[in-house]
Amino acid sequence: MKISSIRKYSTPLFAFMMSYIPLKIGITNRIHLGNDIFEKQINELPLDLRLGLKKEFVTNFRGGVIEKYDSLSLVKLKNKLKQDTTKIFQYCFPIKEKEMAYTEPFGHFLAKRPPNRDHMGLDIFVTPYSKKPQNPITIVAPIDGIIISNKFARQTDNIIGNSTSLLGIDGRTYTFDHMARGTDYSDSIPRHKVGEQVKMGEPLGYVGSTGETTLWHLHFGVLTDSAKAKQIKDPVWLKRAQKSPYSALKGQVNPLSRKDAGEIANVLNKVLK
Ligand SMILES: [Zn+2]
Repeated sequence: MKISSIRKYSTPLFAFMMSYIPLKIGITNRIHLGNDIFEKQINELPLDLRLGLKKEFVTNFRGGVIEKYDSLSLVKLKNKLKQDTTKIFQYCFPIKEKEMAYTEPFGHFLAKRPPNRDHMGLDIFVTPYSKKPQNPITIVAPIDGIIISNKFARQTDNIIGNSTSLLGIDGRTYTFDHMARGTDYSDSIPRHKVGEQVKMGEPLGYVGSTGETTLWHLHFGVLTDSAKAKQIKDPVWLKRAQKSPYSALKGQVNPLSRKDAGEIANVLNKVLK
């Protein structure tokens, strides 16, 4: 598998087909990139991309386990992507069952937070009333990319709960918080390992209510390096970040702003009412 293979982006038809490939195929047969979709199937980054990358496991004080690339590895990975990306990317809405999704003005709902707790992501709720859906609602990759972190939360864990981060081939990071637990539904939940490559439209997990929420919804975050660079220089941001574990320096942008979040903002705005 060559690095050039991630240059290709999928057609909508391909993404549609991908979303219907049964998950039972198994992890080693699930990842498809570029032209050699059905001949070469891998589940980890190609060796030339993996070289020098280091995964780490972090256990937070509430017992949640985070599997991720360390910060140096992320810089390396992003630099490799930069050398190797096309200018045109394809995006899709991060929920497969779009008709089950809605949001509120400003992207969040009943979000009563202290002033130092910024809410930077977009909350995508499920109908009706954000109660547990009878059938799981599938979170899908909004763009081709690479899984860079997974959090497996304990029952008592708060804030983001179960979460996955995807480094898109556009260089942005996409986060999916409050994902369902293994015990929420009888069928197994599609979760990928760090280092796995996913195609646009491919399942990442199910909408859940883990973490600091009682509502079943996806907290969808978009992060950019340029936003992070600005925040690091901004004394107001720094002060807030020190006060709040939630608004830590992450480079989060408004997912509904075309200027900040790029093309995904158009996709979100088109689907959500
Ligand atoms: Zn949220």
